[in-house]
Parts: sequence; structure tokens; C-alpha cells
Amino acid sequence: MHATIAVLPGDGVGSEVIGCAVKVLRMVASHGGHTLEFREALIGGGAIDAVGHPLPESTLALCQDSDAVLFGAVGGPKWDDPRANVRPEQGLMALRKGLDLFANLRPVKLNASLLPASRIKPEIIAGTDLVIVRELSSGIYYGRRGRGEQEGDLMAYDTMAYTVPEIERVMHVAFRLARKRRGKLTSVDKANVLEVCRLWREVASKTAAEYPHVALEHLLVDATAMHLIRRPREFDVIVTSNMFGDILTDEAAMLSGSLGMAPSASLGTGSQGLYEPIHGTAPDIAGRDIANPIAAILSVALLLRHSLDLEEEACAVEAAVDKVLSDGYRTADIAQEGTVTLGTVEMASRIVDALAG
Ligand code: NAD
Repeated sequence: MHATIAVLPGDGVGSEVIGCAVKVLRMVASHGGHTLEFREALIGGGAIDAVGHPLPESTLALCQDSDAVLFGAVGGPKWDDPRANVRPEQGLMALRKGLDLFANLRPVKLNASLLPASRIKPEIIAGTDLVIVRELSSGIYYGRRGRGEQEGDLMAYDTMAYTVPEIERVMHVAFRLARKRRGKLTSVDKANVLEVCRLWREVASKTAAEYPHVALEHLLVDATAMHLIRRPREFDVIVTSNMFGDILTDEAAMLSGSLGMAPSASLGTGSQGLYEPIHGTAPDIAGRDIANPIAAILSVALLLRHSLDLEEEACAVEAAVDKVLSDGYRTADIAQEGTVTLGTVEMASRIVDALAG
């Protein structure tokens, strides 16, 4: 197979972990006889410094013209002035919009040897294997907002709105995923209070009719926050709106012990997708070769699975990560007593070696 991959390392540890992810992809390609063409471009703070814009037009065009985008992270103290007109994260938001990516997938699966690294008791967390599907391109982050005056006091407002087609399309992604997995979908809302969530619930129930082999349950977002900690194993696929998903995915990421372990995929209607670790640019550890590259490397597995339809290769990458962890190698963020701590580059080399077999 031949595919073009846009590579956007971004800022801080972004470039460190994406360098590792590309090494893994190169090994997958050479092993399986695939031709992957990598094309690197600027985004975020680096792009602001270079050309004054967090998403240069040339970067968007390159991504639109690629089969998949591998993205690191953007931002950092240098660009952190909240009053600035151009901010690094605007680049990522514009890229998601520009590629019409509306479903963000965040798997949480715990390697057995990492059980002690989790903040949750092993008997509760063992066997957890879930995916959160977060609506990504609408809802309160994109609604009407502003400031005004109410009875003489300064006030501000943000609005959460969803159209039926916006809910339907993310539901279909979630139902299809649940159908391929264990056949259970939990739709998360706040339908006891919010009208937009009552519509969300109606559309979820209606869409369920098209997926008879998937069992749909509805759960309130506050209850979900609790059950993710109390009984994470019982979830299969969770689908929710943009802001609820933003919060629940960070909570769920911590189940696996470190932000440095959590990959993500952002998908639209076709096979094109954007793949990124969920962590940020980690300015506190950037440039020291100690960041965990596994979230970026597991994002490569998602890229192979969802954009290139290379399931076998995706599983091989996941198995290589599992092997290196089971062999007792760790980065500093997940180090335990009796394990060997490696730097970013060396951890990636071990995974590449495990892939080479
Ligand atoms: P962060 O995810 O960068 O870091 C949070 C904590 O997790 C830090 O202690 C960090 O050292 C640790 N961490 C993160 N990635 C790690 C890895 N791979 N290995 C080991 N430890 C890791 O979040 P933050 O500190 O809130 O944000 C820092 C910057 O990143 C900010 O400018 C923020 O806007 C940006 N950010 C960007 C994205 C993105 O581009 N998608 C996401 C989140 C934050």
C-alpha cells in the first residue's frame, strides 16, 4: 500500500514523541512492504514564530492532501498570554474544522504489568478496555458566546447547541465501533437538566434501531464520572458531547496511569484522520529525553487501523508496546520498583526492535 502521512510535531515534547512515532511507522512500512511518504509541516507556537499564524494555509493544504495526519502537541509558556490574538491551540482547532473531523476516539486499555502504576485499586481497574467517542466540532466550544449586562451586573454566556445531523453522525461512529467490539454503547448526557441533551438522548435512541446487535444505555455525565472510577471494566464504548467528553477523557486517561500512555484519533466521514497523543507539550519535561513516547506510538496504531485499514499492523504495534512494558522497561512517568527506566528515544528503539521481531 502507498499512503501519504502529514507529520506535524508542534511544540515542546511534541517533536520528541512524534519523532519516535515516525520511526515506528517506518519500521511497519519496511516490514510490510508498504510505501509511506512523510511530509512535515509547521503548526502551533512554532508556526506563529515563523509565519505569524498557528495554522499556515500550506499546512492545512498538505493535511487535506494526505491520507492521515500525525500530530504532536502545541502551546507553551512562550505563547501563553491569554490576551494574545493568535494562540497555538487555534491551529489545532482550525485543523480539526478544516478536515471536518467530528469524532474523537480515546481508547483506555490497561497493560497488566502497569496495574500497580494506576491510582485505582488493581481489582477495580484490571481488565478495563473502553473507548470514549467525543463529539469534536460542535457543542458549547463552538456556540454563540459573549458578554453583556444583566440587572446592572456584568454577565457572560456560552451556548451549547447541537443539530440532529451533528448528533447522528457521531452516533453512527460510536455504534459502528461498539458493533466491532463488545456490543455495548453508553450515551452520556445531562438530560435531566439540559434541553440539548434531551435531543441528544432522543437521537441516540432512534439511531439504535439501526444497530440491533448493540445494547444502548443512557447515563448522566455526573454518574459517568463516578462509575468510570468505580466500575471502569463495565464500559465498552462511551459517546458524549464535546465538553463532557473533554472532561471524561482526561479522567479516563488517568485510569491507565499516565497521560503519556493515552492515544487518540479524530475522524470524519471518510478514512482520513488525525492522530495525536492526548497530552500537551509538557514544558516541565521538554527537551530532556524523558517524555513517554507510548501515547504517540499507540496513536500510530490507531492511524494504521482507522485510516490505512492495516489492522494486523496496528495490532503488531500494540503488541510491541505490551512486550516492552511486560519486559519491565518504563519511562520515568510510569516507573515502578524493579523496572528499568529508559529515556524517550531508547524506549522507542526498544519498541521498534520488538516490532522487528
Ligand atoms: P500537559 O499534558 O502538557 O502536561 C501535564 C502533565 O503531564 C505534566 O506534568 C507533564 O510533564 C506530564 N506529561 C505530559 N505528557 C507527558 C509524556 N508524554 N510523558 C510523561 N509525562 C507527560 O498539560 P499542561 O501542562 O496543562 O499543558 C502544557 C501546554 O500544552 C499548554 O501550553 C497547553 O495549552 C498545551 N496543551 C496542548 C494540547 C494539544 O496540543 N493537544 C493538549 C493539552 C495541553
